[in-house]
Amino acid sequence: MAYENNKDDDCRGGCDVEYIEQRKAIIAMGRQMIAAGLAVGTWGNISCRVGADLIAITPSGVEYTSLQEQDIVVMSLDGQVVDGNLRPSTEHPLHRQIYRDRPDVAAVVHSHSVYASAMACARKPIPAAVEDLVQIVGGDVPVADYHLPGTQALATAVSAALARRDGVLLANHGVVGVGATVAEALRVCAVIEKAAHIAIVAQAVGGVVELEQADIDAMRSYYKKNYGQREGED
Ligand code: 13P
Ligand code: ZN
Repeated sequence: MAYENNKDDDCRGGCDVEYIEQRKAIIAMGRQMIAAGLAVGTWGNISCRVGADLIAITPSGVEYTSLQEQDIVVMSLDGQVVDGNLRPSTEHPLHRQIYRDRPDVAAVVHSHSVYASAMACARKPIPAAVEDLVQIVGGDVPVADYHLPGTQALATAVSAALARRDGVLLANHGVVGVGATVAEALRVCAVIEKAAHIAIVAQAVGGVVELEQADIDAMRSYYKKNYGQREGED
């Protein structure tokens, strides 16, 4: 993801804000998150890096459908708001902790989807049983210990679980997905939701058979190195 300090006079309302492409991407993915049923109302939150020490993040408690570019808050990794009139997401400690711990991550999406939240309430990891899940997450989806929303304790628990995966369940709460772009982080949340749904249905027809570790490793490596369209390759 490019960390461009790009200005744009063209945004709705005639605003002239920095990081316009990143703000637009956050708003577009927020709308997709609601349209896909991965969150309801104003819950969930989305961020991306806009510089080595800066992130852009959704404001707290604002409908995704009403968000405008200037509503997205820019803050430093140590928690100072550097641009924006609205309060940042209450989960900003969680987002900032992940960026501090994972230099490879450029975007974070937190969703509240139904089946993944059911697994999170049961405090059961989502098994590594379907190929898209193991490709995009890296294996099963662990459950981070319960802590109150918005706390540093939750941030620490979630980020620790993300040391070995690109997605995690938050006990009795929801999902966090990370990626190289906001679109990829949202896709992680969507694939986790689908895998949670599959796991729950599979329980009704005899139980889940997990993939072998060697097959998980092969599919993860393929996703990271070869999957999709690659520049300069046939
Ligand atoms: P915010 O509206 O403050 O981002 O909080 C929503 C949420 O999901 C808290 O966990
Ligand atoms: Zn939440």
